[in-house]
Amino acid sequence: MRELTSPSVVKDIINSYRFKIRKSLGQNFLMDANIIDKIVNAADLTPEDLVFEIGPGLGVLTRRLACSAGKVIAVEIDQNLLPILQETLAEFDNAKVVHADALKVNFDQIAAEHTAGAFGTNGNSFNLVANLPYYITTPILMHLLTSGFNFNRMVVMMQKEVADRMQASPGGKDYGSLSVAVQYYTIPEIVTRVPKTVFYPAPDVESAVIRLTRRKNPPVNLQNEEMFFKVVRAAFGQRRKTLLNSLTGSGLAEKEVWLEILSKIGVEPTRRGETLSIEDFAMLANTFYRYHK
Ligand code: SAM
Repeated sequence: MRELTSPSVVKDIINSYRFKIRKSLGQNFLMDANIIDKIVNAADLTPEDLVFEIGPGLGVLTRRLACSAGKVIAVEIDQNLLPILQETLAEFDNAKVVHADALKVNFDQIAAEHTAGAFGTNGNSFNLVANLPYYITTPILMHLLTSGFNFNRMVVMMQKEVADRMQASPGGKDYGSLSVAVQYYTIPEIVTRVPKTVFYPAPDVESAVIRLTRRKNPPVNLQNEEMFFKVVRAAFGQRRKTLLNSLTGSGLAEKEVWLEILSKIGVEPTRRGETLSIEDFAMLANTFYRYHK
């Protein structure tokens, strides 16, 4: 098989299969061996590992993953890519393509099915590596994080701005409810920035690869996780308003209730939501939860 990192090979394959690139599916194919090495190295795979890929495309990353992991399961939504993948992955017995929408997939169940229960719900944890379709980056990651799937590490390429928001600290302009959610479930680290020029076709935005390592234990103790995320979303609901006004505007409780709670936990009502740390949010949500019970 000729190297899929060569632009002429990529164009040849696309032409010979009469494949129509669908922008609506975020189809920007990666063609840089160096970036692929960085992604695979960050995943730190061993021959004992199962790795999922979302959106294998032409199979460029899948082939490298199949060389490093024991098994690769690649979930691809575009049926027109299946014959291409059959050719580009032909030499890898350990690479399996599943035709499905990654947003609707139960990763634990697929892992268990394809490994006779060795991975998944009652088995070992798995990893995930992907050059994600940008239009679904946040919903897909939230699906993965909140569904309790048994994964350990995710190394994913996404729009640079989204990666910055995931890793942002309190006080900055990038810090928001996505930062809190991602940092509650994982430890995020940016692996590398990626220019537009390494894709075919080139996307409109710059990219970054981020590694998310699942936390074994949450960083804060919560009385009620659902209430925590409700309060976080409320605090960031209206960014230019004070914390008190954002919380009140959410309709979760009256202004007097929030004033009493904020005074109890020693947080100034005139602060902005984006200055609160995860610990501050936990205190706020736990106090609100007890108040309500
Ligand atoms: N991994 C390839 C690469 O790096 O060149 C392709 C990456 S391309 C950015 C995104 C891929 O995700 C495309 O192959 C696209 O068809 C696929 N895709 C888009 N939406 C999807 C979904 N909901 N579920 C599974 N795959 C999806």
